Amino acid sequence: MDFSTIDKIMLSEFTIFADYPELRAVTVAGKAFESNSTRYNDPGNGKNDVLSKPELRFYNNINLPAECLAKIRQVHGNSVKVVFEPGSFGESDGMITRKKNTYLRIVTADCLPLFFYDPVSCSIGLAHAGWRGLKANIAGKVTRQMQSSFKTKPMDLLVAVGPFIRDCCYSVKDDVASLFSAGFAKPAKNGKYMVNLGEIVMNQLTDSGIRRKNVEISKECTYCHDERFSSARRDGKRSGRNISLIGLVHNN
Ligand SMILES: [Zn+2]
Repeated sequence: MDFSTIDKIMLSEFTIFADYPELRAVTVAGKAFESNSTRYNDPGNGKNDVLSKPELRFYNNINLPAECLAKIRQVHGNSVKVVFEPGSFGESDGMITRKKNTYLRIVTADCLPLFFYDPVSCSIGLAHAGWRGLKANIAGKVTRQMQSSFKTKPMDLLVAVGPFIRDCCYSVKDDVASLFSAGFAKPAKNGKYMVNLGEIVMNQLTDSGIRRKNVEISKECTYCHDERFSSARRDGKRSGRNISLIGLVHNN
């Protein structure tokens, strides 16, 4: 993963997509949306498909019209929408499209943003996965939806996982840890477990037929990097949101 900034805004980009200039895929660190007047970006009373003013300003700064966005109201499920144009697509946790100049957008604060690109059928996907989404295997669901909608072959798929809460900080009780194979949860203090969400999703992706070498998992932990990323576990109700975007560039 490479890091760059636009107007001091921290962006996480992905090495695995570097050879594809037709693709834009980025996680924008949530701290970018803070200002002196608003410490955190306001996702709109839990309506995470509503854009805050700082987020709108960001799109203006990078010349990405907000009218080009495809948004969903994330609900920790595994429903995936097939999108043919920008707009708001209701409650869901994933989108796929082949339409150029339609930028899929999700928000996260510790959950995993999952980016999919099939350079053969020229199609993309984006999903939001916390432990509930992983338990419901949204990664496999996106893969199957791309197979049925775009004839994507899993072996052609490139997948990037943006910054999320890593196993240095993600401690859960037995009720959540027991949902996943023992190999993904290491016993920790106070009867809790440190769960490796990255390895869980890697396993699901390879089970779906995606090659391990075609998956890039961010090493950045949202909880550790206070200065950069929003983290719901760290900041609680006042937490902002990191924004993930993927789109196919329109060439005239
Ligand atoms: Zn950490």
